[in-house]
Amino acid sequence: MLMYAASTAGLAAFAQLPSEAEARTRSLQGTPFTLGVASGDPRPDSVVLWTRLAVEPLADDGLGGMPRTPLPVRWELAEDDSMRKVVRSGTATARPELAHAVHVEVEGLLPGREYWYRFSTGGYESPVARTKTAPAPGWATEVAFAWASCQRWEDGFYTAYRDMAAQDLDVIGHLGDYIYEYGIGATGGRRNIPLSPAHNAPTMTLSQYRLRYALTNTDPDLRAARAAAPWFLVPDDHDVEDNWAADQSPTGMTPENFLRRRAAAFRAYFENQPLRPSTLPAGPDTTYYTRLRYGRLATFFAMDERQYRSPLDINARLDPNRTMLGAEQEEWLLDGLGRSHSTWNILANQVQMFQLDRLTDPGLQQLNPDTWDGYAAARDRLWAGIAERRVSNPVVVTGDAHVNCAAELKVGYDDPSSPTVGVEFMGTSITTGGNGSDMTPGGAEWLAANPHLKFFNNQRGYVRCHIAADTLRTDYVVVDRVTAPDGTASVRRSFVVESGRPVLQEV
Ligand code: FE
Ligand code: CA
Repeated sequence: MLMYAASTAGLAAFAQLPSEAEARTRSLQGTPFTLGVASGDPRPDSVVLWTRLAVEPLADDGLGGMPRTPLPVRWELAEDDSMRKVVRSGTATARPELAHAVHVEVEGLLPGREYWYRFSTGGYESPVARTKTAPAPGWATEVAFAWASCQRWEDGFYTAYRDMAAQDLDVIGHLGDYIYEYGIGATGGRRNIPLSPAHNAPTMTLSQYRLRYALTNTDPDLRAARAAAPWFLVPDDHDVEDNWAADQSPTGMTPENFLRRRAAAFRAYFENQPLRPSTLPAGPDTTYYTRLRYGRLATFFAMDERQYRSPLDINARLDPNRTMLGAEQEEWLLDGLGRSHSTWNILANQVQMFQLDRLTDPGLQQLNPDTWDGYAAARDRLWAGIAERRVSNPVVVTGDAHVNCAAELKVGYDDPSSPTVGVEFMGTSITTGGNGSDMTPGGAEWLAANPHLKFFNNQRGYVRCHIAADTLRTDYVVVDRVTAPDGTASVRRSFVVESGRPVLQEV
C-alpha cells in the first residue's frame, strides 16, 4: 500500500515518472531503509535530506540487493514529529549508478527551526528524523554542537553515538575516518559479528567502499545520531587510505592508481553522506571545504586537510613553500575569517593543530609528520593571517588523534611565555583503538613535555560544545567501554572559554 501525503506539487512530480518505475518499487522484498536517513549542510533556508536504499545492506557487491533500475522515492518534510503538518514534499529518483542514494536539497525553509522528515517507497516508510535549519544572519543566542571522528567499525560499539543522539543538538560535525580501509576479519573484530569474506580485503574498489559504508551505516546508534540533527562532514585519511596526501599513497601505489582508488572512495563517501548534490566528485576531485554560518554567534569553517597538502616530510616542516590547505583553500579560509561577523569562529580541522612533542626527552622533539607539526611554516602563516585580520575568538576543533586533548595555541611553542592566540579541543575516537584508559599511554609525559597542553585522556567518546555570546563550554564525553554494546557515557572533563580571552578554564 503506497501512502502519500496530499501535496499537489509532489503528486504531479510522481505522476511524471514512468508507471513501471512505480511498479518496480512494489517488488522490494523488505524495507529498503536499512541504512537509515540523514540530513546535512544546514543553511538558514535550506537543508539536504539523504537516504540510500538497500534491502540487503551487506550484499557482497555493495549494491544493497537492489534491482539495477531507477526507483522513485517520496520525501516529506513537516513542522511536527508526527508528520501532520507537511510543508515540503516531492519525489526523488534513486539511481543504481549512485547505489540508490538520494540527496534532496529542500529550499524555502524558515531559519533556526526544527523540521522532521521521512522517505517512502514501495509501501515502506523510513523512520521519521529530525533536522534543524541554521539561524537567521542577525541571530546570536546559543548553539549546541557536537563533533566526532574515527569510528573503526570492528573496534567496538557506537555507544558514543547513542549518547549523542539523546542530546538536543543544532548541528553535528564529522571530521573524518568515517570508515577505515583495512580488511575486517570473519568475526568482525571486537564486535564479534560474523561477516562474509567480502569484508576481508582492504577497500580498493567502489564496490568495496560501498560495502564498508553500508556495514557502518547499519549500526543502530549511528543511525540514531544521523537522524537526530543535521551533519556536516569532511573525510580524512582512512576514508581513502592511511596518511594519504594529495595524489601520494604511503603504500607505494602510483599516483595514477591511487587517484583511481581515491575516486572510488570519494564516490562512495558522497553516496553515503548528506552532502549537497554539487559535492558529487568528478573522478578523484571534489570540494569538501565549506562554511556554515550560525548568525552573529558562530561560523564553522570545515577544512579539507588531505586533498591539497604537500607530501609528508617532517624534515621539511619549516619550509614555507609547503602547504596543508593548498593556496586556494588557505585564501578562502583567511578571507572568510576576515569577513566573519561572528563572535566565535570555529575551525573544524582534521589533524592536530597544536605542537605536540610526544617524547619526554627535553633535547629531542618527536613530532608527527601527518599533523600540522609536519607543516609548521604553513601553521605559522595561518595564525599570522588570523592575527592580521583580528579574527574574533578562533577556536579549533579536531579529530584524527584517537585521544582527547585541550591545548592553548601559541605563536611560538618552544617559549612558554609566548602569547596564546586561540584554543584547540581535540576529540577522541568513537571506537578506534578500543576501550583505552584515562592516562595511557604517555598522558602524564605528554602533559609534562607540552606546557600548553592542559588535558589528556585516552578513552573513546565524542565532544559537545555549547556556544553562547560570552562563553564557549566544551564537554568531553567518554565511554567506559566500547568492546560491549552496553557501555556507559559520562562527562570526563569540561572547559569554558570566555569571549576575548583564549584561555582554557576548568569547570
Ligand atoms: Fe582515525
Ligand atoms: Ca585520520
